[in-house]
Amino acid sequence: MSKNHQEIINKKWIISNRGKKNHVDPQKPYAWIVEKERTVSGEIEDTASIFLTNSECPFHCLMCDLWKNTTDDPVPLGAIPNQIEWALKRLPDVKHLKLYNSGNFFDNSAIPEEDYDRIASLISNFETVIVESHPKLINEKCLRFRDMIKPELQVALGLETVHPEILPILNKQMTLEDFKNAVSFLTKNGISSRAFILLKPPFLSESEGIYWAKRSIDFAFEIGVECCTIIPVRAGNGAMDLLIKKGDFSVPIIQSLEVVLEYGIRLNKGRIFADIWDLALFSSCDTCIEERTNRLINMNLNQKKAPFITCICDSTKYKNSNSIL
Ligand code: SF4
Ligand SMILES: [Zn+2]
Repeated sequence: MSKNHQEIINKKWIISNRGKKNHVDPQKPYAWIVEKERTVSGEIEDTASIFLTNSECPFHCLMCDLWKNTTDDPVPLGAIPNQIEWALKRLPDVKHLKLYNSGNFFDNSAIPEEDYDRIASLISNFETVIVESHPKLINEKCLRFRDMIKPELQVALGLETVHPEILPILNKQMTLEDFKNAVSFLTKNGISSRAFILLKPPFLSESEGIYWAKRSIDFAFEIGVECCTIIPVRAGNGAMDLLIKKGDFSVPIIQSLEVVLEYGIRLNKGRIFADIWDLALFSSCDTCIEERTNRLINMNLNQKKAPFITCICDSTKYKNSNSIL
C-alpha cells in the first residue's frame, strides 16, 4: 500500500476536484435499462433498472461519480413517482425492478416518505424491487416502505472494502460495525441485502486489490448478505483522476475481476455478480476484451466458473497477483 495515503482526503478536497454535473430533468430518470440477472431461485430473468434523477448524496465518497447526474436541490414532491411512471411506460414487462437514485432511497431529502404511496402503487406488479441506501440510513423507514409494497424488497448497500485503512479514506463515513448492523436489521426484518464491493480502491496494488475484494466478499456473506456485486473502481470523477496522476491509483485489469468473481462463485455462499459496465476501461487488449466480457456475463448468469481465457495480454503483473490468491 502506498504511503501517500496520509494526505488529507475529505469532502472539501473531493468536491473541489470535480468537473461539471450533467444537465438532468427532475421529472425524468436520467437512464433506464433492462438486463438479464440470475434470481435467487436460479432463473435467468430480465431485470429493469431505473436510474432516478435525484438530489446529490450527502456522503461524497472518494470514488463516487454518481453526483454527475444529480440535482443541487431536492426534487419536488411527486417527482420520483412521476419518473418511475414515465420509465415504466417505456420499459417492457419484467418481473424485477431496481430503483437506483444515485444515493439513498431512505433519505427523506432524496425521496420524501409522502411519495411512498404512489411508488408502491406503481411497482405493485413486480416480484422484486431493489433500492440502494447507505447503511447508516437503514431504519424503521425501510420497514414502513416494505409494508407498503407488494414486491419483495432487497436493499443494496455499499460495503466498498473491509480494508481497515482504506475504508476510512473513502469518506464513506461508515464502519464495518455500521454495515453489519444494517444487514442484521434488514435480515431480522425479512429484507435481504446486496453488497457493493470495490475491486481495487486507491492506494492498493493489483494483487492487494484482489486480496481485499475477496476478504470483503467473505465478510459480506459471513454477516448474512444474500448477494454481492463486484465493482471495478474507475476514474472520471476528478478526485480519482488526480490520484492517478499522483501514482496512488490505477484502474484494475479485467483479469482481476474474473479472478474475484471466480472466487465468489467457488465460495457458493450466495449470488455474486461482476459489474460489467464499461469493461473496456479495464483492458487495453482488443484481442480478448469481447471474450472476457462474455466470460464474465456467462459467470454472472450461471454462477459457475467458465473456461479460462489465455491471451498475449496476460501480463507479468497479473501473473504475480494471481500467485497470492
Ligand atoms: S454513499 Fe453511495 S451514492 Fe453516496 S457518495 Fe458514497 S458511493 Fe456515492
Ligand atoms: Zn488479451
